[in-house]
Amino acid sequence: MLINIKKILADNPSPSTHEGTNTYILGNENLVIIDPGPDSDKHLSKLINYIGKRKVELIVATHHHADHIGLLHKLSSIKNSPIFIGRGQINTFYKYDSRLEERCCLFESTILTREFRINTIHTPGHSSDHYCFHIPSIALFSGDHIMGWSTTMIRLPDGNMRDYLESLELIKNLSHEQILPAHGEKILDGKKRCQQLIDHRNKRSLQVKNTLKNAELNLSEITEIIYGKINKKLIDYAKCTLEALLENMIENNIIKKEKKKDIYYYSIK
Ligand SMILES: [Zn+2]
Repeated sequence: MLINIKKILADNPSPSTHEGTNTYILGNENLVIIDPGPDSDKHLSKLINYIGKRKVELIVATHHHADHIGLLHKLSSIKNSPIFIGRGQINTFYKYDSRLEERCCLFESTILTREFRINTIHTPGHSSDHYCFHIPSIALFSGDHIMGWSTTMIRLPDGNMRDYLESLELIKNLSHEQILPAHGEKILDGKKRCQQLIDHRNKRSLQVKNTLKNAELNLSEITEIIYGKINKKLIDYAKCTLEALLENMIENNIIKKEKKKDIYYYSIK
């Protein structure tokens, strides 16, 4: 089976989105769109130009962040296309835009389109409502769970490190084909990339453990020691993900935290 896959890059480059969000349009005549992208007129007209007179059979999104679903309602209205969402996306999507409710229907573990079949995989971690979309022997669309250029950001409380690591294991065991991420270039060896990301998290946990060996430190201090001098724009993202890791290490009984004058200090348990 051959499926036509078109990637259209949105004009929203930033420290967290890299060159911007990738929108994927699949199929020949009956199209499926994954992650419409940010609310940008320029991006919308690029999508509409490519789609032309063809039918958009359905639209899905990997999660509720604005750089993925900013255009969701507009595109769905213009093309008169249904939006398929997972159970885990109901609250977050409708909270983002209540108008979505009238255009959405629920998907289960598979979506059968006119041209192919898509398996839906709930992969919480980057966000609680994150899904990857898998077309066996063709591609795995990984959204922000696995990115092509960097590790993903995990911001509490919607993000969760334990969930993220479990979702990585899940995808590692499934991904026998290329991974097409929402940011950055395609990843040819998906299994290897998942393992690298798991190893990276384990390495960070070890670094935190060593850093806290003889010290009681707060989040800013730990971030500075572990990340050293990094771009100021990236420090907030690094801090968020590190905080999620620290919470995970507390759950695992490795470290503890104590509040002193409104600031949490972390130490070895
Ligand atoms: Zn995101």
